[in-house]
Amino acid sequence: MSAPKEKQNIVIIGGGIIGCTTAYYLTHHPNFIPSVHSVTLIEATKLANGASGKAGGLLAAWANPSSLARLSFDLHDQLAREHDGAERWGYRRVRCGQLTAVVSQRADTSRQESSSHPNIDLGKWWGREVKKSSVLPDDLDWFDPQSAQSYEEFADTSSTAQVHPFQFTNAMAKLAEQSGARIIMGKVECINCCDADGASQSTSPLTSSSDLTQKKVVSVTYTDKATSKTLTLPATIVVLAAGPWTPTLFPKVRIQPLRAHSVTMKLQRPVSAYCLFSDIRISDSRPTGKAALKAISLEIYARPNNEVYICGQGDRDVPLPPTNSAVEVSSDRCQDIINAAMSVSAELRDGKVTGRRACYLPTLDAGASSDPLVGQTDLPGLVLATGHSCWGISNAPATGKAVSELIIDGKVSCMDMANLDARGIR
Ligand SMILES: Cc1cc2nc3c(=O)[nH]c(=O)nc-3n(C[C@H](O)[C@H](O)[C@H](O)COP(=O)(O)OP(=O)(O)OC[C@H]3O[C@@H](n4cnc5c(N)ncnc54)[C@H](O)[C@@H]3O)c2cc1C
Repeated sequence: MSAPKEKQNIVIIGGGIIGCTTAYYLTHHPNFIPSVHSVTLIEATKLANGASGKAGGLLAAWANPSSLARLSFDLHDQLAREHDGAERWGYRRVRCGQLTAVVSQRADTSRQESSSHPNIDLGKWWGREVKKSSVLPDDLDWFDPQSAQSYEEFADTSSTAQVHPFQFTNAMAKLAEQSGARIIMGKVECINCCDADGASQSTSPLTSSSDLTQKKVVSVTYTDKATSKTLTLPATIVVLAAGPWTPTLFPKVRIQPLRAHSVTMKLQRPVSAYCLFSDIRISDSRPTGKAALKAISLEIYARPNNEVYICGQGDRDVPLPPTNSAVEVSSDRCQDIINAAMSVSAELRDGKVTGRRACYLPTLDAGASSDPLVGQTDLPGLVLATGHSCWGISNAPATGKAVSELIIDGKVSCMDMANLDARGIR
């Protein structure tokens, strides 16, 4: 891609954190010229209505892949300083630890797992050995000390922070809009191409059999959410940031969507800023029941304003629905999370459940590497920004910045993109 002199119609598909952050960095690029670069973001349902609004919001300089993680951590810090992120999206530094706990629970309050639908780790916590210390830090006073078996802090505030992802994503969209981006609510039905050499003026939708190198992107067709009309928008460049739905528009990308449930709770008092990876073994307290009933892994994140966010492991019980408005929430899975969380913390037992949610991680099935796909594809004009798996909140700013440089400067200078290559789709 070379730096353009002519008008560029840049269309971003997807109003999750990746699409919104890309819109932000495009409109805040030093060489962004509104009369040359038109930026339009199209979102099918609502901004941040999928994983980007329902994630935990942990930010880590030690996340994967390292090419995105360190830069993105610094950019989050910069964004928070420039736009009052502490107030607007709950940005703050946190400590991060992993712990194991053992609790007793009456058998009738604990649902047995179906062996045909195993829980799947989201991937953030790669099961390191926890050092055998049962001493919790003094300020981690909202976790029952008698249930903790072992604890290890593995990251401190120098490399770990958090945001409220729904607020962050919406703030990015608003800041992009204020700087000239247009946001449309509508579902993109197809990306249209024409012959790259201009021999024919006819356009055709991108399909799995399209010969990418002979074509170029020319427009997108979408159904407007308010009017249900089918409309076509000219596009010189399309940034495809549709998370787990990316293959519906570009089948060469293979994603294995992973559903995950989460709950939010309002506590009666503020609790210290920890993000905990916990492995809780729940044993049967009946006189005969000696064996552990089950183990459950939870990510438990304290948030500002007395909120705690808790998510469980993933499952593949229900395939990805056509839009994120149709995601099925299992009340059993949410209840498992609530029961387990309440069993390890008096603060949580006294708290009020304020949300029960599910969403899908965009987990790539891309051969040797599961790193996100970011950059130009083999189809001229089609840029991918997808497959961020369990680290999309953390890695969004570096992704958005890299894509903005690629489009406006014609090359990425903020980082090494080698392992994110979107040509050939690995
Ligand atoms: C339970 C859970 C906890 C997580 N915790 C963290 C965390 O603590 N830290 C972290 O870094 N990451 C976390 N993640 C991962 C993170 O949420 C994702 O990587 C990230 O949200 C992906 O963003 P996205 O914009 O690619 O996708 P999405 O958020 O899914 O957004 C894609 C958007 O595209 C839209 N779309 C799809 N198809 C179309 C179409 N045809 N036309 C128009 N719009 C379309 C969708 O409606 C959607 O809004 C977590 C994920 C889960 C599930």
